[in-house]
Amino acid sequence: MTAQSMLKVQRLTKTYATAAGPLTVLKEVDFDLGRGASLAIVGPSGSGKTTLLGLCAGLDQPSGGTVELAGESIGELSEDARALVRNAHVGFVFQNFQLIPTLTALENVLVPVELRGDASTKLRAGGGMSVAEEEARGLLTRVGLGERCDHYPVQLSGGEQQRVALARAFMNRPKILFCDEPTGNLDGDTAHAMVELIFGLNHEKQTTLVLVTHDPDLAKRCQRILRLKGGAVIGDERI
Ligand code: ADP
Ligand code: MG
Repeated sequence: MTAQSMLKVQRLTKTYATAAGPLTVLKEVDFDLGRGASLAIVGPSGSGKTTLLGLCAGLDQPSGGTVELAGESIGELSEDARALVRNAHVGFVFQNFQLIPTLTALENVLVPVELRGDASTKLRAGGGMSVAEEEARGLLTRVGLGERCDHYPVQLSGGEQQRVALARAFMNRPKILFCDEPTGNLDGDTAHAMVELIFGLNHEKQTTLVLVTHDPDLAKRCQRILRLKGGAVIGDERI
């Protein structure tokens, strides 16, 4: 793998044990992405897109094959070790947001910083906002939720929750950002703003971007489109 490689996947396979026997939902997937690259993963529902994203981000362990993330082989790491790699390098926007219901929007965005135990969470001398809180409020403002910082997920629409999830993913200052259908629950204008934010980070900070989408126009904004069907790669197009 080259020094610039951010994500390298080789013969990646996932098999689940089910009542009806083993079910292989991802079959020997291969690709390699450099720093700052962008990849769209497309395919019908059930084709393995979310499974592939989860394996690449170290949320789940493969049944076969390897994943190298920022130069580290993560496939065989323990859950705790994978959590460290994720916290250091990865931002993830889940299909179902996965916000913590008992925390406000602002507190949800601050979770990655709390997990890391950053010095930036400390209050500034003389009181006031911590550096991290200032940054989290800034991110919520960028996604159009500056006035909703103190609202709980249940008080927010699906689209608003998705924007909180995006702000949280950016809070990690990720080297690589994974988004599972980031515009799936958004109206046209809000979807447009989300997409500009995602690609803005990709361009400004050379963040590597991997996104799952059903939107062909969004997929075409990526440099490469990987097409899945029945867990196998049936197309690998460079734009
Ligand atoms: P997509 O995101 O493309 O819609 P998924 O990756 O969510 O697809 O799922 C791929 C296939 O894997 C589906 O058939 C799904 O039912 C199956 N699957 C996902 N998770 C599990 C699991 N824990 N146990 C058994 N089958 C699963
Ligand atoms: Mg999915």
